[in-house]
Amino acid sequence: MGKKYTYEQVKHLFKNKNIELLSKEYKNSFQKLNYKCLICGHEGTKKLKHLLESSMKNGCKKCHKLFHSKYGIKNVTDYQTSLFLGESYA
Ligand SMILES: [Zn+2]
Repeated sequence: MGKKYTYEQVKHLFKNKNIELLSKEYKNSFQKLNYKCLICGHEGTKKLKHLLESSMKNGCKKCHKLFHSKYGIKNVTDYQTSLFLGESYA
């Protein structure tokens, strides 16, 4: 199975998907972790496993929908480019 992540690494992985890790501890990739979206503020739960397997640019369900809807964010290209380059969007 996959490698083991530390809490700090998980926090970083979440941030790369524009979500902030709210859970205070990380046990395994099947654990439901609380997050808060850094873009829209939506709060939800996410398993690390799903985050890693997903090709989504945003860990946030709500933003994911937004980017794929007809009401999509206008500067999506710039936004995704910055994500691709691994730049912090904070
Ligand atoms: Zn969001």
